[in-house]
Amino acid sequence: MADEISKAQAARPGGDTIFGKIIRKEIPANIFFEDDQCIAFHDISPQAPTHFLVVPKKAICRISEADPADEALLGHLMIVGKKCAADLGLANGYRMVLNEGPDGGQSVYHVHLHILGGRQLGWPPG
Ligand code: AMP
Repeated sequence: MADEISKAQAARPGGDTIFGKIIRKEIPANIFFEDDQCIAFHDISPQAPTHFLVVPKKAICRISEADPADEALLGHLMIVGKKCAADLGLANGYRMVLNEGPDGGQSVYHVHLHILGGRQLGWPPG
């Protein structure tokens, strides 16, 4: 957890990201869903038994900089997230999270939706 926070505090927006490389298939990832607008893959450092990311192919840096024109795309991420969650058997619930900026814990500056499930999740988050 402390490691995740220090990563988020050190991360800086701008330029290509590791998610851009995954989208272009330049580096491997455990991708289990893809359409014309987004991909979904398992998080490399899972915080729950099931933890995956839904990432738009369009490189929106952070949600605070999203354009109103991206409204449908951002909604699409949630629809894909809930379909993938059902496909992965998260029938008892899950959490969708979108981290924004250093205080929000964002470490990769390419907008992405986290979906976590498979255990009881606490609230409030740390
Ligand atoms: P955030 O901290 O909200 O920006 O989330 C970034 C997430 O990306 C973290 O949960 C990381 O574990 C995850 N991540 C980073 N690199 C990779 C990778 N190569 N493959 C899969 N997940 C990754």
